[in-house]
Amino acid sequence: MTTWYEVRGDVAVLQLDNPPVNGLNNATRKALVEGLERALDDAKVKAIVITGTDKVFSGGADIREFNTPAAMAEPTLLQVIAAAESSFKPVIAAINGVCMGGGLELALGCHYRVATPKASMALPEVKLGILPGAGGTQRLPRAVGVEKALRMITTGDPIGADEALKAGLVGRIVPDTTFQGVLDFAREVVQRASHPKLRDAKAALPPNTDAMAFFKAAREQVAKASRGLTAPLKCVDAVEAAALRPFEEGIQIERALFVELVQSAESKALRHAFFAERTAAKIPDVPEDTPTRPIKSAAVIGFGTMGGGIAMSFANAGIPVRVLEMKPEALDKGLATCRRNWEATAKKGRLTMGEVEQRMALLKPTLKYEDLADADIVIEAVFEDMKVKHEVFRTLDRVMKPGAILATNTSTLDVDAIAAVTRRPQDVIGTHFFSPANVMRLLEVVRAKKTGKDVLATVMQLAKRLKKVAVVSGVCDGFIGNRMLEQYVRQSLFLVDEGASPQQIDAALSKFGMAMGPFTMYDMAGMDIGYAIRQRRYVEKPHITYSKIADRVVEAGRLGQKTGKGWYRYELPDRTPRPDPEIDAMIAAYRKEIGIAPRAISDDEIVGRCIYALVNEGAKILEEGIALRASDIDVVYLAGYGFPAAKGGPMHYAQSVGFDQVIASMRQYGANPHGDPKFWEPAPLLVEAAKAGRWPK
Ligand code: NAD
Repeated sequence: MTTWYEVRGDVAVLQLDNPPVNGLNNATRKALVEGLERALDDAKVKAIVITGTDKVFSGGADIREFNTPAAMAEPTLLQVIAAAESSFKPVIAAINGVCMGGGLELALGCHYRVATPKASMALPEVKLGILPGAGGTQRLPRAVGVEKALRMITTGDPIGADEALKAGLVGRIVPDTTFQGVLDFAREVVQRASHPKLRDAKAALPPNTDAMAFFKAAREQVAKASRGLTAPLKCVDAVEAAALRPFEEGIQIERALFVELVQSAESKALRHAFFAERTAAKIPDVPEDTPTRPIKSAAVIGFGTMGGGIAMSFANAGIPVRVLEMKPEALDKGLATCRRNWEATAKKGRLTMGEVEQRMALLKPTLKYEDLADADIVIEAVFEDMKVKHEVFRTLDRVMKPGAILATNTSTLDVDAIAAVTRRPQDVIGTHFFSPANVMRLLEVVRAKKTGKDVLATVMQLAKRLKKVAVVSGVCDGFIGNRMLEQYVRQSLFLVDEGASPQQIDAALSKFGMAMGPFTMYDMAGMDIGYAIRQRRYVEKPHITYSKIADRVVEAGRLGQKTGKGWYRYELPDRTPRPDPEIDAMIAAYRKEIGIAPRAISDDEIVGRCIYALVNEGAKILEEGIALRASDIDVVYLAGYGFPAAKGGPMHYAQSVGFDQVIASMRQYGANPHGDPKFWEPAPLLVEAAKAGRWPK
């Protein structure tokens, strides 16, 4: 049963019950229409209530039905909504929790809406590159006015019960403990002579508004906020239709826009990203019912840049966390940084000062390992030095209680080698957070050779509590993200050697959609770490070629923003990157030294070489089994590296461009003697993908 029918006195109650989110699949839609008919036929029934279960009214379309014929089968959601709206007995949506997408469109088709205090309402379709296609863009502006509707529809962000009440989206807030408030409301409205339909209402603009000017300004604002995405602007078109045209016409416009968006590359990429994130949580040989270890407390070793962010993530999730440092001053500094960060959030109104104190109280500083002993998980974030890591893990092995998970945040070191110094390698795992760790969503979970399945399952589950998106990576130099990034970085520097300027490369990749260009990124991150890694590589892996231009920049004392100059110059505290003639001169001198006459390089070549470098290395990572699937690699790049969501990640992008075309470009790049021609030999898995038309895994 997906929907329960029950008559309580003179009120028929249709209760959606299609776990986990009461998705409106075909069976549920049918049951709703049947329930409505049954209630209309029953003379005893005077009013009809539609509600959900537990904390969910309805999450909208059932994603399990996506791309199947059942999604289109009748009754469609539009038909269900029409049935509710045209009912001659009043229909009340009792919004008892999450009410999103099609769920909210259904509620908007009812004559009345009431909500429990914890209810949350949203039309999040825009996040998947589409718009609400079941009347949402037409009825919401009629319920809450054009301004608020625009905000909800173009951002997809939810509003709570109080805001919904104020905006007129719901008529009353009812207690969530008993159903009596809903029944009382139903019995009240039965008395009324007629029942409102949102289709008959007016989509109100703010008073004294010139509609043309209003929508022009709205488009400008939305375009700015949505960084080149199409769907938010189409949402404005649809809401404009609600404001300026009759309902029936508006619905036609909504439909046409919906169909256009569903077929767009942008929406395909965003939907790919949505499913990719869900899929990343699945590990083929670690079934969902794998027992996990309870995590009630945590510990972090090293309270520097990363340790501080990691500790904040635990405290944000309400998990007490002990932090260990070598000196009291380091503890004080770490605590002060956490406090400053939380207070900054509080200033923006996103935390109360009480919550700041609660979080601070969850951080327990210490200088003694013995104080960590009973933590369920400990994350090491000390200096990136194998000797130091070994020392830390030997100590952890000695002091930590049996069954504690021992995690390392290393970004480049071999997790197997770290595990090997303990007597419990099954408990050792890599948790590679990204900086700033309290903000960035990505967590690469590094599965070492001997990592226990229960440990892996526990950390994947913990990631969700920390509000991170976890992707499993095998052990290799750089794991998934940084190993690929190295190829992107190499190409960006080769391009400079050959004639492109850092500004041109940054502009081309920003235009492609990257959150920032590579040279701005190097300056922001600081170039000393990359420098140190390269110096090591020159010795350990002399066959890998690098442009030496970045070394020259570092050796001139230009480390990036932190030294006030790097690839750009800065007028600190202003962090705007400004072109610097000194850099131009250094680049010109370096080109001369290596005997390259600069040439004009197109933006296409810049984007192709940087992005396909990611793709080719990604294909190798996939082939080696370091990543489980191509879509996991996409998640890494979307959540951790600022890859444009509208392009779905590097692997999806290659597929959407066409593998044959990607390979043809690679061969062309390989004909260029500068810039490691051998790298451009297409990875075997890419060739395989070209034959199949899709990534094999
Ligand atoms: P950091 O220098 O900011 O912090 C390291 C902290 O560890 C310092 O406060 C230091 O006092 C402390 N420490 C050093 N040895 C210790 C020991 N034996 N016992 C206790 N504390 C000790 O470094 P960071 O940038 O936070 O990096 C930490 C780890 O995270 C490294 O392994 C690094 O590779 C990794 N990482 C860094 C980033 C990044 O962007 N910074 C990103 C991902 C991973």
